[in-house]
Amino acid sequence: MPVPVRVRFAPSPTGALHPGSARTVLFNYLFARKHAGSFILRIEDTDQSRYDPSSLESIFSGIRWLGLGWDEGPEKGGDFGPYFQSQRLDLYHAMGQQLIDGGHAYPCFCTPQRLEQLRDEQRRAGKPTRYDRHCLSLGAGEIKARVEAGEIPVIRMKVPQGQTVVHDLVRGDTTFDNSSQDDQVLLKSDGFPTYHLASVVDDHEMRISHVIRGDEWLASAPKHVILYGMFGWEPPVFVHLPVVLGPDKTKLSKRHGAASVLEFRDMGYLPEAMLNFLAFLGWSPGTGEEFFKLEQLVEAFELEKIQDSPAVFDQAKLDSVNGLHLRALSPAEFAARLTPFVSDLSPDLLAAAAPLVQERMQRLTEAPGLLNFLVHRPQVLPDEIVPKKQDLAGTITVLQDLRTLFETKEPDESMEPALRALAEKHGWKTGELFMALRIALTGSPVTPPLLPSAKLLGRNECLLRLDHAIGQLIRRRQ
Ligand code: GLU
Repeated sequence: MPVPVRVRFAPSPTGALHPGSARTVLFNYLFARKHAGSFILRIEDTDQSRYDPSSLESIFSGIRWLGLGWDEGPEKGGDFGPYFQSQRLDLYHAMGQQLIDGGHAYPCFCTPQRLEQLRDEQRRAGKPTRYDRHCLSLGAGEIKARVEAGEIPVIRMKVPQGQTVVHDLVRGDTTFDNSSQDDQVLLKSDGFPTYHLASVVDDHEMRISHVIRGDEWLASAPKHVILYGMFGWEPPVFVHLPVVLGPDKTKLSKRHGAASVLEFRDMGYLPEAMLNFLAFLGWSPGTGEEFFKLEQLVEAFELEKIQDSPAVFDQAKLDSVNGLHLRALSPAEFAARLTPFVSDLSPDLLAAAAPLVQERMQRLTEAPGLLNFLVHRPQVLPDEIVPKKQDLAGTITVLQDLRTLFETKEPDESMEPALRALAEKHGWKTGELFMALRIALTGSPVTPPLLPSAKLLGRNECLLRLDHAIGQLIRRRQ
């Protein structure tokens, strides 16, 4: 029987769910779905000093927005929550004790001051900073006496001599000399484990088959492999994902703009487009195909196709992927997605107007700029209302003629021949006349198609706006 696929996303609640982490969530999710496995969310809240209470909300709502739910966790009011490491301290203590009993770990009473001094000396001597095993040789009697006297030790792993090979599905094998590894603290004096102990214990305990995570954790992997060896456990398959760079080729971070995936929602991106885009950060199906919905990603996803070269976060690419997903929505669905961005429009007006903009948007945030004219009358009209090659007086005359035309019928696309004829009569280009009319009706040179927009406004509103435009131009002449 093959080992069941069980994967996890294991964030520390120290900040928002940023796009790089969302990519990690996605790859874990895709792999789990593809192999009918389980995707686990484990909150690694063992560093009390870095705990940020707003982080959990960002992680949960980010994952929810992307639609990448997790599969199991402790019961919580009929539902299941994620695992929290802070609720599993007994397990880490028992495992720490097991390592001490096996001679793989030892208590250390060194004060922060001594450690700082040691590091200073090592730095000055140009040596790597490592714990000097000062407490390794303490006898059982002394340890007992110091604990009874109220001293609280940390527990350190006793890194054996030799070499450690990390097998990674993306990176291949990397050999580390154990002398490069410090005697890492496993249990801190505040009673919490460090990341290394907790993560190895949990990955084993939760029967994680594949550890899929960002490649900043590759440096910790030798410690983890050593710990697996000390416990006598089989390590999972490691899959370190390539780093995500910003456009300036430095590691993607807050400096590059959005720190949280939820900011992308607010910037007008669809979750399905975000998923499609994130999937291509370090992975590609190799077919040239670029438009993927979640279920198609599940189908196509293979760990073997993850690249080992850095991925670049290109927002222009995200814009174009978003445009594709916007156009793939049904008209009703598209209108529904627009709703939070154009709160001024009634549902009926929005439903009628949405098809006019669906083909020409890359982000939902463009909607107010394109549609607000439907509910807000133009105020001061931009100068482009007078075409470059025409003059003010001529423009007034043209607008007056347009007004007369609009008096005779409800505006719609059938008006186009009459508009062309009018342009010709005045020696204007059709484009010039359309632009002047567009600005008079909407206040902007960039709008949805003109005549359908005029139709939505209705004849009376168009007349009113033409009057206003003519009035404004007459005042400009005086
Ligand atoms: N807690 C680590 C983090 O914040 C998890 C690393 C891992 O996946 O092992 O990303």
